[in-house]
Amino acid sequence: MDGRLDPFKRIVGLARPELLPLAGATLALLGTAGLTLTYPQLVRLIVDGVGQGGGVNAVDQYAFQLLILFAVTSVLTAIRMYLFTIAGERIVTRLRQRLYASLIHQEIAFFDERRTGEMTNRLSADTTVVQNTATVNVSMFLRYTITTFGAIIILAWTSWRLTIVMLILVPIAVIGALFYGRRVRRLSRQVQDALATATEIADETLSGIRTVRAFSRETQETERYQDQISVSFELARKRARIDAIFGAIAAFAGYGAISGVLWYGGHLLVENALTMGELTSFLLYTFTVAFSIAALGRVWQDFMRAIGASERVFELLERSPRMTSGETVLPRLVGQVTLDDVDFSYPSRNDVQVLTGVSLTLKAGECVALVGPSGGGKSTIASLVSRFYDPDSGEVRVDGHSLPTLDANWYRSQIGVVAQDPILFATSIAENIRYGRPDATMDEVMDAARAANATEFVDGLPEGVMTHIGERGIRLSGGQRQRIAIARALLEDAPVLILDEATSALDAESEYLVQDALKKLMSGRTTLVIAHRLSTVKSADRILVINGGKVAQSGSHAQLMERHGLYAQLVERQLAH
Ligand code: ADP
Ligand code: MG
Repeated sequence: MDGRLDPFKRIVGLARPELLPLAGATLALLGTAGLTLTYPQLVRLIVDGVGQGGGVNAVDQYAFQLLILFAVTSVLTAIRMYLFTIAGERIVTRLRQRLYASLIHQEIAFFDERRTGEMTNRLSADTTVVQNTATVNVSMFLRYTITTFGAIIILAWTSWRLTIVMLILVPIAVIGALFYGRRVRRLSRQVQDALATATEIADETLSGIRTVRAFSRETQETERYQDQISVSFELARKRARIDAIFGAIAAFAGYGAISGVLWYGGHLLVENALTMGELTSFLLYTFTVAFSIAALGRVWQDFMRAIGASERVFELLERSPRMTSGETVLPRLVGQVTLDDVDFSYPSRNDVQVLTGVSLTLKAGECVALVGPSGGGKSTIASLVSRFYDPDSGEVRVDGHSLPTLDANWYRSQIGVVAQDPILFATSIAENIRYGRPDATMDEVMDAARAANATEFVDGLPEGVMTHIGERGIRLSGGQRQRIAIARALLEDAPVLILDEATSALDAESEYLVQDALKKLMSGRTTLVIAHRLSTVKSADRILVINGGKVAQSGSHAQLMERHGLYAQLVERQLAH
């Protein structure tokens, strides 16, 4: 994307504010690595002390020193783990905050093209991978590099001939282990993917249980889930087989290398080229080298995987929204809205032109109804007025200002929207009503609820307006949610109002209440109403018929009825969309 930076540099950039804990952790790490290299020397001294009859005192002393050394190693390990973890958690917290802020500011078209699950996954899983790269992986890489090279140098110094034998044998074992590790890992990922697919099936069918039940599809859905879960089982079985066979081979290769060192070391011992203690320490260093090389291989693989994840994270983090805000802020909109020869296609579906040459004007305070067949482009026009998208050509203006020149946040505060299926958040009803004006007083909230005819049912809830609406427990009907949404729009008190099928799917009783609330809401505002109820449409000042992305007809109800065109047909069919 824009200005590709080396992912490694960016990860380092993330870690920079944690320099102090990371430096402390690195010091502790260097300490443990050094001590790991020291303890075989003490073991050598103990063994040789016994062999040469050096007395019990010497053995006691060395053993005690060994104990101290392990104690210090443990303390340093605790310090290292704590500091690295804390630094890592801080890094990932900051990363998540920044990523979320970046996501939520992207233009609407960005969200059209992505699934929500994909984005939340970036926030949770990918950021964790980046955290590990920045801390744990770097620290392990350092540690094992030091122990590998340190141990080899000490070994060469003890006996260069034996070192050569070891350097031939150990890598063979390690390469075998790595090869099998890679295969197992690939299989593990496949198991995970198969499991994820099965989980998706469960997710979909459990949350859509009403549909499943209504069509009696329980048995088929159970089979579908079982099929998918068996796929994951088959893969797991394959993994278990490879695990068992390769695991045994790799272990044998490792022990074979040890046997080789012992065999050749035994010869050197007989030739008196090596002491007993030296051979013992040699073996311990061999373990260290083998373990460190294998660990380095794993760290390297993790690192490669992390680079991929971090690239995805940084791409989102550094993406600047394609839609930018202007700077003009006016005192308050008068409310004249104009679409001037607008062509539009959705960025996610470039090939389909949705609007062609649409021109229309809403005078300040006027109520204009959009009617027309489903898919004609009515909601799209509403989205352009909200500036969720910019037109491909032509212009949208309010009070003579082109939308891109206006401050976007300010402009949207001047537009109230009530949608067909309003989204309420899982918080109190009062908070939902306040959503567009967080500083509104409780009295103002109550007034808005009353004007929206919402008090009648809100008062019946356990905690009135403070009742929390969430996934469990309190569920509101469509009409009730719509009245909350109307209260929200009333409180926002915007001079321009968009109602997108705000009265659809209501029963007669709540329709009356909602209509009444809407009437209060519309008075004195410029209103764009998308409706399929004749009563709403008739009362509009002007009606525009939208068909196939064009304005097909316009005029008052009476004028349009006289023309026997599309509108008259729609009215005959009760405007059904
Ligand atoms: P109406 O509200 O009149 O029923 P819309 O404005 O919702 O019609 O849709 C007009 C056309 O644009 C339809 O063909 C629809 O498939 C398409 N469309 C609507 N929203 C999107 C979107 N977010 N991305 C891509 N295409 C869309
Ligand atoms: Mg629509």
